[in-house]
Amino acid sequence: MRAQNPGEILWSEALVARLSELWMSGTTSGEIGRRLGISRSAVMGKLKRLGLLGRERSQVPIKPPQMPRLVTDFVIPPPPPPRPRPPIGSFDIMDLLYSDCRWPEGNYAPYKFCGDRQAPNSSYCETHTRRSMSASQPRGTPFYLTPLRSVGA
Ligand SMILES: [Zn+2]
Repeated sequence: MRAQNPGEILWSEALVARLSELWMSGTTSGEIGRRLGISRSAVMGKLKRLGLLGRERSQVPIKPPQMPRLVTDFVIPPPPPPRPRPPIGSFDIMDLLYSDCRWPEGNYAPYKFCGDRQAPNSSYCETHTRRSMSASQPRGTPFYLTPLRSVGA
């Protein structure tokens, strides 16, 4: 079938079937037009010519897609109690907090760490900061500034 006027809709059997199906399922003429890509008035005209306008349609409205329900009745469990702090000198590396002394204790791995509170501008506590300085140099001289001694001298 040829369209006689430009803009005239070619109503194929499939298009008519889809129009009838949508109309009888309760879809509005505007929605049918949007889905089929034609104007609402074209939909109404075709429905009238098909004799479908006066027919009783399904009363089941087309539901919009449902949004997932927000879960609002959940309970955030309280955080676990903090691990008890080990005694000074027996910290595992995973026990150390940012401000804990990192002085290793013991001669063999796995080392324990001091864990006391760090002195200002040091990775160690007051005691271990002093111990990290050379005893032969004036107080406060870091070990890396002490001169090397030759073996046997
Ligand atoms: Zn320490």
